[in-house]
Amino acid sequence: MSEPTKAPPAAAGRAATKKELPEHFKAYKHVWVFIEQERGQVHPVSWELMGAGRKLADKLKVDLAAVVIGPPGEAVQHAATESFCYGADLAYIVADDVLTDYRNEAYTKALTDVVNTYKPEILLLGATTLGRDLAGSVATTLLTGLTADCTELDVDADGSLAATRPTFGGSLLCTIYTLNYRPQMATVRPRVMPMPDRVEKPAIRIIEHKLGLVEEDIVTKVLSFIPDRDSAKSNLAYADVVVAGGLGLGSPENFQLVKGLAAVLGAEFGCSRPLVQKGWVTSDRQIGQTGKTIRPKLYIAAGISGAIQHRVGVEGADLIVAINTDKNAPIFDFAHVGIVTDAIRLLPALTEAFRARLSPHSRDRIAS
Ligand SMILES: Cc1cc2nc3c(=O)[nH]c(=O)nc-3n(C[C@H](O)[C@H](O)[C@H](O)COP(=O)(O)OP(=O)(O)OC[C@H]3O[C@@H](n4cnc5c(N)ncnc54)[C@H](O)[C@@H]3O)c2cc1C
Repeated sequence: MSEPTKAPPAAAGRAATKKELPEHFKAYKHVWVFIEQERGQVHPVSWELMGAGRKLADKLKVDLAAVVIGPPGEAVQHAATESFCYGADLAYIVADDVLTDYRNEAYTKALTDVVNTYKPEILLLGATTLGRDLAGSVATTLLTGLTADCTELDVDADGSLAATRPTFGGSLLCTIYTLNYRPQMATVRPRVMPMPDRVEKPAIRIIEHKLGLVEEDIVTKVLSFIPDRDSAKSNLAYADVVVAGGLGLGSPENFQLVKGLAAVLGAEFGCSRPLVQKGWVTSDRQIGQTGKTIRPKLYIAAGISGAIQHRVGVEGADLIVAINTDKNAPIFDFAHVGIVTDAIRLLPALTEAFRARLSPHSRDRIAS
């Protein structure tokens, strides 16, 4: 399949529908980013969205605000303060004991409450498990539109959010507008937007919003919290080195060669979608449009053709090395280094060569 057809420049495709913005829209101002934090850990996608949000706010000449929701205490205060280092002009905190653990009902109430009070024109959330759950119910409650899994965000000439995302199985990119409702909401998957530089900055303005919600009003109860201790769980999205295999490897046994090279390099391993569908590899290892988006410093793809749905998940990598027997494979159109050979023979040779040359210390250096 060829590269996805690019969406026309923002606003070009909707000239016929363009009209004066309704008067009550004028009350909606500023760009907001929902800062996803759980038990003191801020999800890095929140800072990636601050980078994207900063650009939108600068174009619109409005403020960029961070919204932090959680239980009262150090964690929410820290997340709010940290947001200024990633470009926030102000931060809203909704802190309440009912927000201790994520529950859709309580978080939806908290976010819709603060939106209805301060009226942002754009609201961005990470397309994480939590973010997807929250964004859908917040948009439904606010009776506004939500564009999910965006790959580009921009503002057009009249200040509308132009939210671009893949459609028709990734063969087309479409730009979606929320013309008749506010706020305009969008989610973006982790690693789709680059991480902005962190610049030390003191907190400028923090607004604490009181939530009038009591525990008895919430139907869902958290009985206990069991942390995920699965050490084999992948950290693909944020790995510096990734080795992945595709159908060209021919069997689950041969996929072990990918794992072997990844282990020697201190890398994460991943795969193309058919390997998940065949049950060779678990779904958390899938890279691409319906899997993880990655931005490693080094990506080694063995026996992967480079279909567009795979390509969109890897093109943020600094260096892509492709191993494929077919010199016309699409992956060679975007790989930086192409090796036309049998991956089943090359992978063990690479593993041995790196094993011989790399001490554990220098493996750490590859990833830094
Ligand atoms: C809606 C939708 C969403 C999708 N989402 C994703 C997604 O998130 N991620 C994803 O990966 N795919 C996704 N796909 C599937 C995608 O279209 C491709 O089918 C898939 O990426 C192909 O996987 P592959 O490259 O492993 O297999 P193939 O396309 O079969 O390619 C195998 C490659 O291996 C090469 N090869 C064969 N033998 C060897 C050897 N011994 N050594 C080296 N090379 C060899 C071949 O030349 C070939 O290029 C999606 C498809 C749809 C419709």
